[in-house]
Amino acid sequence: MIETEKYYFDVVVIGAGIIGIATSLEHAKKGLQVLLVEKNPTFGQGISSRNSEVIHAGIYYPQNSLKAQFCRRGMELLYNYCRSKMIPHRQIGKLIIQTDDNESSKLQEIYTNGLANGCTELRIISNKDLRKFEPEVKGISAIWSPKTGIIDSHACMSAMLADLEKEGGTVVFNHLFERIVPTDDAIDCLVDNSIVISTKKLINSAGLGSTILAEFIEGFQKSHIENISFCKGSYFGYEGSLPFSHLIYPLPNKEGLGIHFTLDMNLNGKFGPDTEWVRKEDYSLNETRTAHAFKEIKKYWPKCDYSRLRPIYAGIRPKLGTKECFRKDFMIQTANEHNIPGLINLFGMESPGLTSALSIAEHIANHKICSSD
Ligand SMILES: Cc1cc2nc3c(=O)[nH]c(=O)nc-3n(C[C@H](O)[C@H](O)[C@H](O)COP(=O)(O)OP(=O)(O)OC[C@H]3O[C@@H](n4cnc5c(N)ncnc54)[C@H](O)[C@@H]3O)c2cc1C
Repeated sequence: MIETEKYYFDVVVIGAGIIGIATSLEHAKKGLQVLLVEKNPTFGQGISSRNSEVIHAGIYYPQNSLKAQFCRRGMELLYNYCRSKMIPHRQIGKLIIQTDDNESSKLQEIYTNGLANGCTELRIISNKDLRKFEPEVKGISAIWSPKTGIIDSHACMSAMLADLEKEGGTVVFNHLFERIVPTDDAIDCLVDNSIVISTKKLINSAGLGSTILAEFIEGFQKSHIENISFCKGSYFGYEGSLPFSHLIYPLPNKEGLGIHFTLDMNLNGKFGPDTEWVRKEDYSLNETRTAHAFKEIKKYWPKCDYSRLRPIYAGIRPKLGTKECFRKDFMIQTANEHNIPGLINLFGMESPGLTSALSIAEHIANHKICSSD
């Protein structure tokens, strides 16, 4: 590697999304010299700014999955962090609606899974009680999740970055990692073709770019690089007032949680995200997607007026695998899998990554580079 300048850090994190920021902060709190590098001019421009901003309670995920493990703890840590830093958030609760007679066993399954994941606060409520919560929602029965909430994710990332700098961490924007070379006792990274950053621990938290980045690591076996597929999700705004005060979800489908209703911290409502497999990072909006969203929303809100629905923004889920067959869990790859000490790859960090960020960070910061550390 041609060297012009060389800098040394204990930990380098690539990607200033919610997970990269939380992970940097957790390492800095341990007194380590941390560098967080982002290719964009500012933080949170990737998946972290194009999501539902829901703090999930951990209901759906398979028992013993990383999602189940990190979501529940992440939720508690996130609520505590929000309270301590005055970050706008509200624990407004969520309803998962059964709209079809044939769905009762599916609703029961979700409820039982939630209980097994530690969500003992869940309740199954009748049609009559559902009307008390949300008079305009049509459903046979529902699951009530009082711990689900909403958050201003931008304010949260901003607070974490401020804390990171207070803890002595360094954040740089507009820098791109081009080559990563593991050496005997460190990992050298070539940045902007001129600077070498040498680190003991390198965390690839590049979101949609994490598998591409893995290809720049010298000596990294291609068989460890997961195939990534992009599943776009468009959201729909509604012209005029909406009658809901809780989060409203249909039963989940194969690709996601279904076209749900969420509120942001200004109490603006939106529906989405839908699912559309795309080849590249393309956030363009398409009016033709509204018809399908309308059909799904009508199932739980019969009064929905098609002419008032408009696509407003889209996000992209990084799915590991293919459209036909994808992994349903996060992947945290360490030397145990790839044999490069100090390298941690985060692949497939889709929902509930926002909720889980602080617990993922805790887990990675506790991960030793080698057993003698
Ligand atoms: C439609 C949708 C809805 C969702 N809703 C929710 C929800 O309600 N609740 C929830 O808990 N989770 C939700 N999620 C999941 C959550 O948003 C993500 O898990 C989380 O934001 C991922 O954060 P990240 O830091 O891994 O990725 P990102 O936010 O994408 O950050 C990665 C960063 O890496 C940078 N980068 C990439 N390559 C390089 C490079 N070579 N050099 C330097 N920087 C680089 C990118 O610019 C980017 O800023 C949703 C996701 C989607 C797609």
